[in-house]
Amino acid sequence: MTHDVVIVGAGPAGLALAAALAGSGLRIALVERQPLAAIASPTVDGREIALTHRSVRELRALGAWERIAADGIAPLREARVLNGGSPFALSFGSGAEERLGHLVSNHLIRRALFEVVEALPGVDILPERSIAAIGRGPRAVSIRCEDGEELRAPLLVGADSRFSFVRDQLGIGAEVNRLERAMLVCRVAHDGDHGGVATEWFDHGQTIAMLPLNGRQSSAVLTLPSEEIAYLAALDPAALGGELTRRYEGRLGRMDLVGPAHVYPLATTYARHFAAPRAALIGDAAVGMHPVTAHGFNLGLASACLLGTLVADAARQGKDIGSSLLLRRYEATHRLASRPIYTATNMIVGLYTAEHPAARAVRHAGLRAAARLPLVSRGVSRLLMQP
Ligand SMILES: Cc1cc2nc3c(=O)[nH]c(=O)nc-3n(C[C@H](O)[C@H](O)[C@H](O)COP(=O)(O)OP(=O)(O)OC[C@H]3O[C@@H](n4cnc5c(N)ncnc54)[C@H](O)[C@@H]3O)c2cc1C
Repeated sequence: MTHDVVIVGAGPAGLALAAALAGSGLRIALVERQPLAAIASPTVDGREIALTHRSVRELRALGAWERIAADGIAPLREARVLNGGSPFALSFGSGAEERLGHLVSNHLIRRALFEVVEALPGVDILPERSIAAIGRGPRAVSIRCEDGEELRAPLLVGADSRFSFVRDQLGIGAEVNRLERAMLVCRVAHDGDHGGVATEWFDHGQTIAMLPLNGRQSSAVLTLPSEEIAYLAALDPAALGGELTRRYEGRLGRMDLVGPAHVYPLATTYARHFAAPRAALIGDAAVGMHPVTAHGFNLGLASACLLGTLVADAARQGKDIGSSLLLRRYEATHRLASRPIYTATNMIVGLYTAEHPAARAVRHAGLRAAARLPLVSRGVSRLLMQP
């Protein structure tokens, strides 16, 4: 064996797992195809991550939360869902001081987790490595990199995103929904005050989310068919700011870009299994969520912490860290946590992007009914806050 655990992918999920294994005494290899500089100092990628309270607690326990500067954390007080031209809004959260969660830029989370992992003994960070092949035996998995280097360990973890190479190599299928839509994400400064309120506006033909950042800034997230997003992404910043102001109907006043626009094609994935003999999938490799309900990283972090706890406990007790019992337990627990959110999110996306009159009527009625049922709005708030 060269290591005890080989993790493929040093994104937030892979880094969180390495951090969760701190103190277990295990030798860990973290294999990443990007150069070291790109994982140590990740550049701004436009993603503003809405963290639940549970995720903040987990990041704190991993030692990452304290590494994020206070001015990089924005309070999320309330979330509102708007439908078409209706002035009626479904609202979650108190709107008062109590926070629904926090918004933190993805690159800050990645950097904080990297700093934690970099300082850990027993972790080999192996950048600029691509996996060529994976072989499995009853006691170990072997991973051959394209440069010929070979790693062997009793446990392999795929944390290599939603179109996971590891998942394919393990022969695990996945539900894949390519939505033929894309998201354009950019940071904007505006005249109006957002009041810490996130808005998800399912307008006819477009979806716009405005996520409140510190000061008079927001992250604008526009979802449209891919070719329209490509057209908008090619505009100069002033023209794109004007376009966003117009599309958002001036609700926050004039909007000006304060950073580049980033484009993400939309696809959701759900692996048919999260475990195979001597291997597991975490993060987006297991569950690739639609960003609309802001749960991808939250679930990915939960999967890393769950697997990390099970593996670290087994190691302390001198048990096999890649046993099928342990992996089945991980799989069952994470499927139970993720499947309802994944299914509900896809249903919301389907309902809110359908444009025929019947769908419009259904969502209008659905929103009004949901608002009258305190259980629904309290249930969603609780889901978001995860107290
Ligand atoms: C616009 C947008 C907004 C979002 N907002 C939220 C939000 O508000 N809340 C939330 O919880 N989530 C949100 N998400 C989702 C969140 O960003 C993802 O769930 C999270 O980044 C997944 O982390 P990961 O580590 O699993 O995968 P990734 O971040 O994709 O990292 C995977 C890593 O693996 C590496 N890799 C891939 N293949 C290989 C290979 N073959 N060999 C070696 N290395 C490899 C990659 O280089 C990368 O470093 C959002 C996503 C988007 C696009």
